[in-house]
This record gives sequence, C-alpha cells and structure tokens, in this order.
Amino acid sequence: MPTCVECGTAVSSLYTEYSKGNIRLTYCEHCQKLADKYVEHDYVIIFVDMMLHKKPVYRHLLFNRLPYRDTGIDPNVFKLGILLILFDVYIKWFRLEQEGAVAEIGFAQHPLVFQYLYILFLCVTEFMSFHFGVRLIVSLWYGGRYAILKYNYITTTLIISSFGKMLLILMVIWDYTALEYSWHLVYFIVFTSNIEALSVFLDTGYLPTTLVILFGICCRMLMQVAFIKITGDSALVTLASM
Ligand SMILES: [Zn+2]
Repeated sequence: MPTCVECGTAVSSLYTEYSKGNIRLTYCEHCQKLADKYVEHDYVIIFVDMMLHKKPVYRHLLFNRLPYRDTGIDPNVFKLGILLILFDVYIKWFRLEQEGAVAEIGFAQHPLVFQYLYILFLCVTEFMSFHFGVRLIVSLWYGGRYAILKYNYITTTLIISSFGKMLLILMVIWDYTALEYSWHLVYFIVFTSNIEALSVFLDTGYLPTTLVILFGICCRMLMQVAFIKITGDSALVTLASM
C-alpha cells in the first residue's frame, strides 16, 4: 500500500490521474501534507535529498517507488549492489597501489587476474557478512515486534543508502592526491545514510539503528579477521584494514 512520505501513514493512492499527464497529488489525511511530493520530482532532487539524509526520500524509494516484492530484491537494486562491490574493489586496489603495499607484500608477483579476483572475493565476503550481520541482529532484536519482517527490504535499504560510494567516481576524474582521505568522508556518509534509511524502514530511533549498523560492521570486521587466520597471508592484513 502507498505510504505518506512525511509521516509514514498508509494512504489509498499517491495521486489522481484526470487525463494523460494531468495528475493531482493526494494530501495525507493524517499530516495534511502531500502524501508523496517526489512523484513529480526528478532524480536530481531525489539524489540531493538522499545526500541531505531526509527521511521522506527513503520512504518514497522503499515504499512507493519500488514495486512490492515478497522475496528477493529489485533487479535495479541488485545491479546497484554489484556496482557498489566493484567500487570497493577499486578503492582497495587503488589504496594498495598508492601506499606501495603491492610490491611490499609481494602481491604484484601474482597475475593481474588473480589479484583482481582475490580482492573481489574479499569485497563480496565483506558485503555479505555486513548484510547478514544486520539481518541477524534485526531478527534477534526486532523479531517479535513486527508481524512480518521483510529481510529482503533490509538488504534493499542498505544497498540504496550506500549510494554515497558512487561519489568515489570523482577519484577517476579528479586529482588523486587531492582526494587522499576522501574515502573516509565517503564511508562516513554511507554509515550515516545506512542509519537514516534503516531507521525509516524499521521505524526506530537513531540510537538502536546505529547499534544495528555497528553490529553489521563488527561482523564484517570479524570476517576480515577470519580471512587473515584462514590464509595466514600478510597481504590480507593490508587489504582488510581498508
Ligand atoms: Zn502524512
């Protein structure tokens, strides 16, 4: 059911269409505001509001924009997830090269394809462990609170709100040295966006949502430690710390 992006109340419809291209947006009976102003906004406004961490924009994307799914995630969100993993691979590789760690750890002795697959596997594992960590703590903490908890929407929420990594594309265009520490800022934006979006989906406060995200990050770090233990390769220490 469509949702008012301002207050989160269910509404019967977001707009009434009188003729082709002639629509009138619905006002929410609960908060008396437009139920979903983003229906008429373009993607630039949506992106800016995501950057500004506005709750309504996440309600719009999660409840009104994406078609409802019982299981699985939207194909476009899935593609974004793959893109985000590839960005992670790029960042790790770039930082290894920049810090001269490639030669230092003997990583460069391996074929290029091996290096790429090696980092890709690590990034996929990190991605999976973070998402499953968040799902796990939500099921333990909030399992009894909701009649139905859609875990596929938790993954969707985390992927959409990690859009900030896309900003790293600027590293390709701009001077690398000027953006030496930019990934710290990017990761902070992703962290806070994850909290904002998940608090919208779970309808919870910032503190519990922050703890949920931190638990997911801890799971990701534990997986990195497990990697180091299993392989016993010092190369992973450098990779995992990024
Ligand atoms: Zn409302």
